[in-house]
Parts: sequence; structure tokens; C-alpha cells
Amino acid sequence: MPAERVHLLAAVAMAAYLLPWALKAGLAPAIAFSAGYLLGALFLCPDLDLERSACLRRWGRLGGFWRAWWRHVPHRGMSHSPAGLLVYVVLATLPPAAVLTLAGYPPEPRVLGAYVAGIAIPHQLHVLLDELWSALKRAA
Ligand SMILES: [Zn+2]
Repeated sequence: MPAERVHLLAAVAMAAYLLPWALKAGLAPAIAFSAGYLLGALFLCPDLDLERSACLRRWGRLGGFWRAWWRHVPHRGMSHSPAGLLVYVVLATLPPAAVLTLAGYPPEPRVLGAYVAGIAIPHQLHVLLDELWSALKRAA
């Protein structure tokens, strides 16, 4: 797998490319996209299943939840799959959406979609870089 700083650098470059597009959708979707993107790039990385990952260390004591979650899953198993992404999206989206809805401020679908896209894009970028890295290693 590429070094974590390669993943981070790619995520920053992708964010710089995508943020103007998000701003065209409006301020609220851009903020939601940015929040989701930061969450996805820094805290909900596919490498949460690695004990030594910076992503897991960022969770501090709360990282125990992810250690328990991924204990029986091999690295690059579910965490790097669409199912893993779905787990992250559900865990990161349903609680805040439920709280906002119960408080009388249900999120607009386009804002919610921007938030989910913000979580999903860095996840998929990470998986793509991992696959590319593995292909390059096999070819060498
Ligand atoms: Zn990975």
C-alpha cells in the first residue's frame, strides 16, 4: 500500500479539484461536502483495520470501537469494499441526520447527498490508490 502521506496528499489534491464544483451547488452543500470529506479522509479511511494507521490513531481512545469492529476482518477485506464504505456512511450519516430531523431541521436531500459524497470520494480514492500500487508492484 502507498504511504499514508501519499493517500493524504491525493485526498488534498482531490479536495482542491472538487471544492469549486461543490461550491457551484451552493454554500450548504459545499459545507456538507467539506465536512463529509474531512471525516472520510481523516477519520473513516479504509485502513481503519490497521493497528498502525494514522487514521485509527486519530480516533484516540475511541479507536477501540474500530479495533473491535475490524478484529476478525483481514486487512483490505471489508474495509476496502463497497460494504465497508456503506458501514462508514451509515454510521456517519444516520445519527446526525436523525438528530437534525428530530430537532425539526431535516437535512435537504442535496445537502445529505453532498455529505455522503464527501465521505465516499476519499474512501474510493484510497482504494483506487491501493489497487494501483499493488498493480505497479506486481508489474515490477
Ligand atoms: Zn488501504
